[in-house]
Amino acid sequence: VLLEFLKPGDLLLFSSPTYGGTDHFINHFLPKIGVHTLGFTSEMSEEELYETIQNSEHAGRLTHVHLETPANPTNALIDIEMVRRVVDRIKTEEKVTIAVDNTYMGPLWQHPLKHGADLVMYSATKYIGGHSDLIAGAVLGNAELMVRVKTLRTFLGNMASPHTGWMLLRSLETLKIRMEAMQANAIQVANFLKGHEKVAQIKYLGLIEEGTRNYEIYKNQCSGPGAMVSFCINGGEKEAFKFLNSLKLVKLAVSLGGTESLAEHPKSMTHAGVDDHHLEHIGVTDALVRLSIGVENYEDLIWDISQALDQVTIPSGELV
Ligand SMILES: *Cc1c(COP(=O)(O)O)cnc(C)c1O
Repeated sequence: VLLEFLKPGDLLLFSSPTYGGTDHFINHFLPKIGVHTLGFTSEMSEEELYETIQNSEHAGRLTHVHLETPANPTNALIDIEMVRRVVDRIKTEEKVTIAVDNTYMGPLWQHPLKHGADLVMYSATKYIGGHSDLIAGAVLGNAELMVRVKTLRTFLGNMASPHTGWMLLRSLETLKIRMEAMQANAIQVANFLKGHEKVAQIKYLGLIEEGTRNYEIYKNQCSGPGAMVSFCINGGEKEAFKFLNSLKLVKLAVSLGGTESLAEHPKSMTHAGVDDHHLEHIGVTDALVRLSIGVENYEDLIWDISQALDQVTIPSGELV
């Protein structure tokens, strides 16, 4: 999508944080082919976003927007309708395409096309595949845009194999019940983590404080909190590693959205390709742990997470 909708000299607007591989492609590959990039975070207001684009050197060449909401790995939310308004104000003649990476919400809990996006993208490796046994992606949009995506795909040769296609069809049969079971478990896990003394901060859509701007975006855009739970452990890398290495049932691995629960350390794993100075700014700290909650019995998951947290010693003087 990025290669089809951008050309040298164009400006790409993107939300940050975004999946580590996407971030690397945007910040390290696109500049090599002369595409200008401008990142923004969920903290920016409508006016601030407008000003930021207007004040950039290349506002007149804004052609494409890449959004990831909720963002991997912090669950930060971007208001898609707000971004649509801003880019339409900036480019009144031609239409700017907005693509949303909807991987975190699967096809179930968020429908970006209804909120002003032109394209929706999925890592089908995640919820859609759902069994951590295939790698695929999906893009959806109107016929005019999809012809462009499909044509470039033919030249790049990155279509899925027949076997992957067959496995995806198998997986679609259970997509909804898997996702609902995972979400129900995640709500239990998040509630357990919420009050825990070893947990400094929890980033879960189901726990966003009412009355905040984030809560409004969540209510307008998502139909459920999903099954991705991130939290900051009380401490830093040492404590996060101790927790991860103490898990017995939850596996230490990247990827997400599969039937089995996974835990990982974004800073050193999925987001290792993101520039260091940038990581702190977007909330990907040494203390951050990401959980993808699966379909197991939630009591087993809480037992495991609880015993792993018990293994962590909070560093003295660093109680948050
Ligand atoms: C995993 C992931 C990707 C990349 O997907 P692959 O199928 O592994 O190539 C892109 N975006 C998000 C949000 C992801 O979680």
